[in-house]
Amino acid sequence: MEGGCTCGHVRYRVEGRPLIVHACHCTWCQRETGSVHALNALWEADHVVLTAGHPELVHTPSASGRGQLIARCPDCHVAVWSNYPQAGPAVRFVRVGTLARPAEFPPDIHIYTSTRLPWVVLPEGAKAVPEFYEAASVWPAESRERVRAMRARLKAEAVVPDSADPGS
Ligand SMILES: [Zn+2]
Repeated sequence: MEGGCTCGHVRYRVEGRPLIVHACHCTWCQRETGSVHALNALWEADHVVLTAGHPELVHTPSASGRGQLIARCPDCHVAVWSNYPQAGPAVRFVRVGTLARPAEFPPDIHIYTSTRLPWVVLPEGAKAVPEFYEAASVWPAESRERVRAMRARLKAEAVVPDSADPGS
């Protein structure tokens, strides 16, 4: 499925189903979206393919204190995805509202519901946690295996610095 920013400069394509979809009700996401919660679909980085434009990576403070890198269109500044240090570069948090058919990506879990705004009513039976959760207890085994494989691919592609340079 395709997605992109409002002005059309940044376009991307996602491949396959997301690893998991988070509705995040933390106050940081409320402020950054100007809304009641963020909606992020997590994909392996190489399942999110840039097809047009060059997003600008904006370092943005986060609740953990470690910040997140938000990929924004350099023209209209709409955020298309982000990377958190906790999940690393292997996982992109795609903003569901920028996908062509966001209705196909309902949240698998609502997180940080301790700061859910009072008029937001979760569907009966929705999975929800007051703060965060352990991936091992929530993610399907297939998603955990996909991330493990992605991390291994990134490691294999990493440039090994030449420490044997006699000139330094
Ligand atoms: Zn744009």
